[in-house]
Amino acid sequence: MCKALIIGAGGVGTVVTQKIAANPVFTDVMLASRTKSKCDAVAAAIGGNRVKTAEVDADNVPQLCELFRAFKPDIVINVALPYQDLTIMDACLECGCNYLDTANYEPRDEAHFEYSWQWAYQDRFKAAGLTAILGCGFDPGVTAIFTAYAAKHHFDEIHYLDIVDCNAGNHGMAFATNFNPEINIREVTQKGRYYENGEWVVTEPHEIHKPLNYPGIGERESYVIYHEELESLVKNYPSIRRARFWMTFGQEYLTHLRVIQNIGMARIDPIIYNGVEIVPIQFLKAVLPDPKSLGANYHGQTSIGCRIKGVKDGKEHTYYIYNNCDHEQAFKETGTQAVSFTTGVPAALGASMWAKGLWRGAGVFNVEEFDPDPFLAELGEQGLPWHELFDVDLEV
Ligand code: NDP
Repeated sequence: MCKALIIGAGGVGTVVTQKIAANPVFTDVMLASRTKSKCDAVAAAIGGNRVKTAEVDADNVPQLCELFRAFKPDIVINVALPYQDLTIMDACLECGCNYLDTANYEPRDEAHFEYSWQWAYQDRFKAAGLTAILGCGFDPGVTAIFTAYAAKHHFDEIHYLDIVDCNAGNHGMAFATNFNPEINIREVTQKGRYYENGEWVVTEPHEIHKPLNYPGIGERESYVIYHEELESLVKNYPSIRRARFWMTFGQEYLTHLRVIQNIGMARIDPIIYNGVEIVPIQFLKAVLPDPKSLGANYHGQTSIGCRIKGVKDGKEHTYYIYNNCDHEQAFKETGTQAVSFTTGVPAALGASMWAKGLWRGAGVFNVEEFDPDPFLAELGEQGLPWHELFDVDLEV
């Protein structure tokens, strides 16, 4: 018997709830979010009274605890926003629940990405005998599990890791983000950062770029940006000499982004407008397309993977492990586009790894610290098949 509580009824939460509801390892399922009507719509589409719903403000620990004490979840799957990570972890500790998320904590007033805030919960989760699983989406998530799989089966030492994330889909809109616009714009407008020889090298935003070829897609201009899994991967694989994260952006997207920044609409500090305090990026979110609504007209594929160079049995090798996900296919199955799908499927699968006792432990864990084999054995069946290429030109 395993009771799962999902928090956040956005694009990702929709996919997680569908996958959790379809998995018999979960005996009871609840979806809770700020707006209950959104939870009800997701539950109604699944049908059969399988999914209970509730309203909760996940910034509020007493409210979370009231809900946790009533539903008694074994595991809480946090797919609200990164701002809520710490309050949900606090409530899990107070009520004896295990925890899983897909994005590291960010303070609201600073676009700053690091695991220190959540790693600081290590002793408390350990003492309570509870598991906290951090970053179990696609990136972070599957990218770190791909790296763990490479380290387990194909390398004695990983020396160079390049995570490559291509979205070659077209949604027909002039500008839209693929997941929560506020979080997405904060992430892609920050300075670039990568790891080399024990140090973090900082670049201007999008300063380093080159065309990379993606399987089944072709060449796309790819940009080095900072991404949170780099921090845990270089800690857990100390043989890594250089670790970078590349993301593709179209020229049209970058032009819009530049304008948004130049006119101050990406600001995260409050301003007064007509006597009311507003945060420009939050106002922008309200007028941009809801990422959940993009699915119906989204065509093309995403391709995300790890390009790795290292040593096995004294010989240098290269290795490329990746998944391609089709936006239309994702929409047909779940009513959401591929970015919500590629995030939600791993989150639900990670929770089922915990429920089946395959990923357990007392403390706070990044996903690469668990056995990658049972997860990857099921990832394809869940809709995200993966592929390997050996000793190919990695281009990076
Ligand atoms: P959405 O904005 O679509 O959904 C977020 C949901 O959380 C909304 O339903 C929102 O409620 C709810 N929410 C926000 N604040 C609160 C609160 N205080 N209390 C309760 N509920 C709240 O985002 P996405 O679904 O696109 O993304 C969800 C998460 O997934 C994000 O943290 C994002 O960073 C992460 N992500 C991770 C990826 C990965 O690969 N690891 C990739 C993509 C996303 P309301 O509907 O009322 O606004």
